[in-house]
Amino acid sequence: MTKKNLIVGNWKMNGGLQGNQALVQALLQAVGQPACDVAVCAPAPYLAQLQALLAASPIALGAQDVSAHAQGAFTGEQSAAMLKEFGVRYAIVGHSERRQYHRETDETVAAKTAAALSQGITPIVCVGETLAEREAGQTHDVVKRQLAAVIHVNGHCISEIVVAYEPVWAIGTGKTASPEQAQSVHALLRAQLHHAASEHAAGIRLLYGGSMNAANAAELLAQPDIDGGLIGGASLKAPDFLQIISAAA
Ligand code: PEP
Repeated sequence: MTKKNLIVGNWKMNGGLQGNQALVQALLQAVGQPACDVAVCAPAPYLAQLQALLAASPIALGAQDVSAHAQGAFTGEQSAAMLKEFGVRYAIVGHSERRQYHRETDETVAAKTAAALSQGITPIVCVGETLAEREAGQTHDVVKRQLAAVIHVNGHCISEIVVAYEPVWAIGTGKTASPEQAQSVHALLRAQLHHAASEHAAGIRLLYGGSMNAANAAELLAQPDIDGGLIGGASLKAPDFLQIISAAA
């Protein structure tokens, strides 16, 4: 089975109309026809701008979150159907910043995954342990529990998801998991997916995220179960993001 790597930029709450345009123009001028799939996940107010800027380009549009609900009295939320209207192809769900600052539970993340899938949006399901959990030897238990909740609700279409392993202690800290540390968790996640959907598990893309940058991307992406990256800080600088895309080719 041929499986292209997937490189996703998570802009988080950064950007502005002018800066977004400059960043996307710099990416599109240099990216050519990338040998991997590429997406950028922009803040919600800029999705319309990004839809226009990325039209007919090899870079897909993603959102950073999606509501678990279809419509109604959920002030501040965006439904999957709304995202779909703006050409959104991917939605990050369960990012550790949302689990931490917005108290999203495993169940919420599973419901958001279902909401995205219901509209044909590919959910990028984030899992990962905190430093305290790693030091307590709980890494495997934590990521297995987080993924199990998503499989429990979405098992019938689990082959449609992307999983991002993002150790919380590596996000935005400059501390990257070693390729061996990342591969060991990716292998565990792959085995769990295999158990849930044996014939599809090999084709599900498992991204690594956590201070991935131009210097460390190639080594991480060389691991057998790492199929791409979810990139925060380095996705805001066109040269760095382009180097990561090249490393994933
Ligand atoms: C992220 O936001 O998902 C992320 C991995 O951030 P950073 O690359 O800045 O660590």
